Parts: sequence; C-alpha cells; structure tokens
Amino acid sequence: MTERRQFRAIKGTRDILPPDSALWNWFEHTGREVFESYNFGEIRLPIFEETSLFARSIGVDTDVVAKETYTLENPEELGEPRESLDPKFSSLENKWNSLIARRPPIDRLDAFEGYKRQVSELLDVLEKGMAVGQVPRTPGNLQNIKSIRQNLNERIPLLLKAFIDEGVENPPDALESQAGFLTRSLARIHFTDVLTLRPEATASVCRAYIEHNMHALLGNQKLYYIGPMFRRERPQKGRYRQFYQIGAEVLGQSDAPAIDAEVLEMLLVFFNRVGLTRTTLYVNSIGDKNCRPQYVEQLRKELLKVKDRLKEDSQRRIETNPLRVLDSKIPEEQPIIEKLPRIADHLCDECRAHFAKLKEELNLRGIDYKENWRLARGLDYYTRTTFEVTAEGLGSQNAVCGGGRYDGLVELLGGPPTKGIGFAIGTDRSILSIEESGNARKLGGLAVYIAWMGQASYPTAVSVARKLRAAGLAVELPPEEMKFKKSLGLADKLGARYAVIIGEDEVASRTFTLKRLADGDQKKLAEAELLEYLESERPAKKGTGNDESNLR
Ligand code: AMP
Repeated sequence: MTERRQFRAIKGTRDILPPDSALWNWFEHTGREVFESYNFGEIRLPIFEETSLFARSIGVDTDVVAKETYTLENPEELGEPRESLDPKFSSLENKWNSLIARRPPIDRLDAFEGYKRQVSELLDVLEKGMAVGQVPRTPGNLQNIKSIRQNLNERIPLLLKAFIDEGVENPPDALESQAGFLTRSLARIHFTDVLTLRPEATASVCRAYIEHNMHALLGNQKLYYIGPMFRRERPQKGRYRQFYQIGAEVLGQSDAPAIDAEVLEMLLVFFNRVGLTRTTLYVNSIGDKNCRPQYVEQLRKELLKVKDRLKEDSQRRIETNPLRVLDSKIPEEQPIIEKLPRIADHLCDECRAHFAKLKEELNLRGIDYKENWRLARGLDYYTRTTFEVTAEGLGSQNAVCGGGRYDGLVELLGGPPTKGIGFAIGTDRSILSIEESGNARKLGGLAVYIAWMGQASYPTAVSVARKLRAAGLAVELPPEEMKFKKSLGLADKLGARYAVIIGEDEVASRTFTLKRLADGDQKKLAEAELLEYLESERPAKKGTGNDESNLR
C-alpha cells in the first residue's frame, strides 16, 4: 500500500494565498514605484552566499550569525567551492587531512603527547590563515577550534596529570577517546567555503558593489531589493523562519546627513502610500570608530558592576556585544539600563555634528521622529545613524523597519573606502499591521463573470472575454455550459461585480445584458458600449489616500 502522508509547509514558513497575495503584490509594487521615484534601481541578488560573508559583515558574535542562520554543510551540492586557496593553506589542508587519516595509535603517553603537539601546531597555522581570510571564519570553524583548544589546554593536561600521579604506564581508553574527540573536531574544520541562506541582504549588496566595481560609477549607487530572508528564530506571530523584506541602500563617497534624511523620507512616503500610518520613527546615533569603542568600554565597565542583577543573555552580552544589552525588553532590567551611560554624551565632534544636521534635515522635510538612545541594533556593522520604525497592532514583534549607516562595511569586505546607509522593511509584519488597522485596500477581485448558455453563444463569449481581459479586467469564463440560474449563482459566490449574460438572443441582436450583482441593476448594451462601460469601472491602482502619518 502506498503511504498517504499529508505534506505540510515547514515550521516557520507559510504559503501566501489569494486574495492575500494580491495585497502583497500591491505592497511590493508600490515599493517599486516609490523607490524608483527617488531614483533607486532594483538589484536582484542570490539567496545563498558564502558563510564568511555574513560572519564578517554581520559579526560572528551576533545572534543572527551565531544561532540563526541556515548553513549548508556540503557546499559542493549547491555551488562551486572556492578554487584558489593560497598554496600555503592548501598544503595545510593536506597536512590536516593526513593528521586525521593517519592518527598514530595512542597507546602510550608519549605517543599522545606527540599527537597533541602536532594538533596544536596546526591550529596555530589555521588561526593565522583565518586572520588573513584564507580559511573561512565561520561560526562552525570558530566553535570547533575553541573546543579543541579547551581540550588541549584544560581537560587533557588534567587527565595526563592524573595518570602520572597514579603511575599508570599504559593509559587506557580515556586517552584513546580524547584523541578520537580531537580527530572528529579536526574533521569538522572546513577549508572550502560553507554556504548560508541569506539572513539579510545588506552584505550581499555590498558584495555585489565590490564585485561589479560600482564604486567607479558616477555618484552614489541607490539600490533596492525585494525578497525572502531566512533566520532560524522561534516562530511566533510576526516572526517567521522564511520572511520577506524590501530594502534600500545608498553606497558611495558621501555621508551627508541629507542622504540619511532622504532615505527616511522615502521610507515614510512609502508607508504612507500603503496605509501603514500609525507608526513611530525612532532615531539614534551610535558614533563611529573614533568614539564608539571608548563608549562601549565604559558601558562594559558599568555593566560589570551590575552584572549580578542582569539575566543570562545580558550577562553574556557584556562580553560579546555590550550595546545589545540596551535592546533588552526584560522588565526587571529596565531600571538598571536607564541608569547606564548614554552614547549621546560620548559622541565625538564629527558624529555629534552629523546627528545634529540629520535632525535639522528631518525637520526641514516635516518628518516626525523620536530620539531613542537605546537603539543600538543587533548587527555589528552600524555606525552613526541608526533607526527603527514600529507599528501598531503587532504585539511584541512591532518593528516593521530597521536600518542605519554602515560606513566602513564595504572596506571590511575587501572593497574601497565607501560610505553606506540603508534599511530593511519587514513585509510580513507591515501587511499584518495594515490589515489590523483596517487600512487594507480591497484589491482586484473578480470584475466580470460571463454567463453564457447555448453552444451557439460560446464563440461570442470567448471573444468578449478576451476583449475585456485585454482591457485589463479580471474575467471568469465558465469552461462548460451551465443553466443561467446556476451560472449567476456562481457569479455571486465568486464575488464578481458584474455578470455579462450571453444567450442565443443576445448573439443574434449583438447586444448583451450587463447585470450589476450588488443590486441586480440590468441594462442592455451593444458590444462597444459594454467594453467602454466596463473599462471605466476598472479599479484605479492608486494608494489608499490616507494622509494621517508622521509626515507632516
Ligand atoms: P533586521 O534585518 O533584523 O533589522 O530586520 C528588519 C525588519 O525585518 C524588522 O523590523 C522586521 O520587520 C523584519 N524581520 C526581521 N526578522 C523577522 C522574522 N523572523 N520574521 C518576520 N519579520 C522579520
């Protein structure tokens, strides 16, 4: 018997069905219109990239890279592994492999000592390779190296000491199993690049900017993208594992605050056009490489003083990324965080001036905003301006857009010195908020149902349907003959606005009966009149016309 299992979408992913998909398409289409009116052009990007691109740009210690990415361990299945490893490191890879394949029998202490020394020497070379970008600096590689080092430096010496103290001459299975652990960890080190499904697209945009020498083009590059992103987060309302973003980036030589302000204006014009109006824009400046490190150090010092009163996540972040502690939403931590030093008091003169000018530019454009000194954002690459937009009706996952400036990211990825700023809008949450606010436009839907009866009227029905469709109307033509009553009943159920009735009489007189289904109003029209009338009824493809928003 064949198995009849029902397939279901993977947890955290979902299908967007009609009629919702019409709202999605309209949302994205409006995005294109607005962004193109600001002279942005679309960039279409791959969905997977080398893991180290994300590790380097977003930061190995961020939650996104450390815990949430989908990484493909067998990159050969999806793409070509990198060919040109530096010869020095491909010989390292060979040594590595032979160390794994030809591990000496660990039957004596000195054999084990020798093996341990070899592993340790190779790790040194590997770490050097990583520092210069020849060995992929991926979370997996880092984790493996860390645990090998821990064993070499802590657990194994303790074990050996115990054997020596007890005078054991032929150390038994414990050594063999330690060596086995080392070998397995060594085997997990990747020399070719591992691939990751993109958790965001800014890194890819910067990679493409460098790859296509876009810095040599005139002026700033203004790019937008639309598409799915992937993060292994705990699914809940407004948080998915495959979710969708619309984002925009400006890359070039200038970091004028007017660029930041124009990007924010464009964002709010878009939100306004799609009826996402009950929003709040928060802005902050998190300084640059001249002033932020001192601030972060001071923050870390203050955090260490209150460490015992913080929860586990925040405690960990004191070491890895103290700015992230400011993002904490845990109620007990709030009074503590409110007393921490604020970045605004530590900005250097240039960053302070940049932020002041940005606020001036926002006022000039009539943009309402709130300053939020705690807006640090999760990713490592931000400098100076950061911002976030929240919307109503979303519960705890209420951010619909995040972004900021990332001067230096392109350089970090091996490109020329470049300034950059951008944002990413979460489409899933934006649509949820528009729906909850009752602002969702009723889009499209079925305009005309053709109720035909009698084989003689069928060719006319086919021809009228084609003409109405060519005029841009959504038309349903039943594929098989039906009685009028049943046919009109179906038209109602499908939500058609009109029915065009075509029977043999209509074909003979070349006039058609047009029935408005909402109120049953009927008129007889010649074919040309029918086309003209229905065309004028076609829904306009404009925005919601709703004007209350934080654009004054
Ligand atoms: P980020 O790239 O983290 O700055 O996120 C930008 C925006 O993408 C957020 O404000 C959310 O609207 C949206 N977003 C991020 N992660 C998810 C997710 N897992 N599910 C749905 N939307 C998300």
